[in-house]
Amino acid sequence: MSVLVVGSVAFDTLETPSGRRERVLGGAATHFALAASFFTKVRVVGVVGEDFLPEHEAVLTSRGIDTAGLEHVPGKSFHWSGSYMRDLSSADTLATDLNVFADFAPKIPTSYLDTEYLFLANIDPVLQERVRSQMPGVKLVAGDTMNYWISAHRQNLLKVLRELDVLVINDHEARMLSGETNNVRAARGVLGLGPKSLVVKYAEHGSAAFFSPSSFGNGKQHKLFRAPATPTEDVVDPTGAGDSFAGGFFGYIASQKQLTPDVFRKAMFYGCALGSLSVEDFGAERLQRTTREEIDRRFDELREISHL
Ligand code: AMP
Repeated sequence: MSVLVVGSVAFDTLETPSGRRERVLGGAATHFALAASFFTKVRVVGVVGEDFLPEHEAVLTSRGIDTAGLEHVPGKSFHWSGSYMRDLSSADTLATDLNVFADFAPKIPTSYLDTEYLFLANIDPVLQERVRSQMPGVKLVAGDTMNYWISAHRQNLLKVLRELDVLVINDHEARMLSGETNNVRAARGVLGLGPKSLVVKYAEHGSAAFFSPSSFGNGKQHKLFRAPATPTEDVVDPTGAGDSFAGGFFGYIASQKQLTPDVFRKAMFYGCALGSLSVEDFGAERLQRTTREEIDRRFDELREISHL
């Protein structure tokens, strides 16, 4: 089994109460790929510039991630700069330098065409749609988005939502998409836009899964589910927590034969485990030194704190 992720591979400049880091390896696809690589084979589609060196690519390939779909072009890689000085739970974007990402036209290598699990990370919904249509044989499609696409590119985004088996977003995005302030109504509103299921991340308050009545053939077997978050006192840098959650969640699903309700629930616990690990250091540094044993220990802790 393998997962294909399309999204940003970036350099991030980060400012949090724990310090500042210049141009660390980041991007939604990077965080997702590292997290998913603990469970399954991962393939990346993205674009980088000349500043993306062999040592950066080695961060991915040393975890077995296939980078055949990572295009190298002249120019500089995408750069994002964010500050969490005002609020540790939401970034203030200081700069978004698209650079080579501005002309990104995703190309799927032929060696990727047998991929069964597709994750459309947060990029222009037009590109998400283009990748989706180049992968007619996929078994399951999940995706993410962000406030910018919800408000400024809604019509394009709505087309993508109708194609998704799982939409993974945070609670602000669910409220924005639906126009509802109550979390349950917001989830119902989002499901009304077409995704078969919805995973909403509530940061340190955990996550919840909601299912459309038509989800996965007989959707009635899947029921509302809430997963806790690991209690974490020292959040160093929240960047990439959402993508790491998605990588743990979808990577685990791809490693299983069938998407049963039990698998979906365990996947949410693995998502929480990866999300909580990723915030313990800047950028993707924590996931680079994570072990599968650590992830499983965190999974067990989550089980302990949430079961009677
Ligand atoms: P997260 O904290 O999980 O929401 O995602 C953080 C990652 O998203 C960072 O590593 C950024 O490089 C990346 N990112 C920020 N803005 C954008 C954007 N407009 N398009 C694609 N990726 C972005």
